[in-house]
Amino acid sequence: MNYIVLDLEWNQCPYGKDREDKRLPFEIIEIGAVRTDENFHMQDEFHEIIRPVLYRKLHHCIRNVIHMTEKDFERKRTFPEVFSDFMRWCGKDPVFCTWGPGDLTELQRNVAWNIRKKKLPKDWPFAFPLFFRDIQKIFSYTYEDKKTRRSLKWAVEYLSIPQDLEFHDAFSDAVYTAKVLERLPADTVESYSSIDTYITPKNRNEEIYADYGTYRKYISMAFKDRNDVMKDPVVITTACPYCGRRLRRKIRWFSENGKNYLCIAVCKEHGLVKGKIRIRQNAEGSWFAVKTIRTVTREEAEKVKEKKEAVRKKRREHRAALSSRR
Ligand SMILES: [Zn+2]
Repeated sequence: MNYIVLDLEWNQCPYGKDREDKRLPFEIIEIGAVRTDENFHMQDEFHEIIRPVLYRKLHHCIRNVIHMTEKDFERKRTFPEVFSDFMRWCGKDPVFCTWGPGDLTELQRNVAWNIRKKKLPKDWPFAFPLFFRDIQKIFSYTYEDKKTRRSLKWAVEYLSIPQDLEFHDAFSDAVYTAKVLERLPADTVESYSSIDTYITPKNRNEEIYADYGTYRKYISMAFKDRNDVMKDPVVITTACPYCGRRLRRKIRWFSENGKNYLCIAVCKEHGLVKGKIRIRQNAEGSWFAVKTIRTVTREEAEKVKEKKEAVRKKRREHRAALSSRR
């Protein structure tokens, strides 16, 4: 395994959001990375500061966090050159490890922007689907409740890792992330790989099905119209995460907020199953679904039922309020 622990720093439009390039809100100004072996021991390092070409002046918030000024960019190389060297350094089939999913998104956005500007060759340099290791998530799976997301500094303190480097420097953050990774159980790191969704499945054949043992994840193709997502029969299918049987739903899909949908189904062999669908928008503005299905206890299923009733009650009250106004 070729683990590449990656951290980036980026700049944003110094003159505010109105004047930014919508296709590149965050321009990468530093890549820091560490390569580890399969035991997560550090083998090699990559570090380079990048001269921005879009936002040449630092945004004041960025200036306060990173330890750089515009002077540090002078005579530095630009993103296409550094990125090409970085990918060569990564080697064949790199498995990226990052603190949270954000760095991989911004890396791909910067690549896409440079391809559009014809500064990089148009072959997409990343695998599809792009599996990666979200160390922030795996830290939570190992030491906390699977839901909480901590800062890198928090995790470093928790694990009593000596803090001899400054935080918010791409290279030192990559080193710290690698040191956290080194303290995580290898089987957990292997079992909980994340799937990046910067590039989404283009058609039915590309749709992603991942089996995590206790739960399954599905990523749908993209739909132009948001309303078509929950009408799609494949999207709304509920299959048992253990045996794969198609299940009948006890509580049909409903939404609390229009973004997330929940349902409860039952497998005659494996019991109650909870489905969750998140509707998300991809880089092209199309809509896709991320569905997870897991078995749940009776109490958890009961909670879903209560949620559905609360939604119904709210809707009834809303309708009553409307009709009394007429
Ligand atoms: Zn089953």
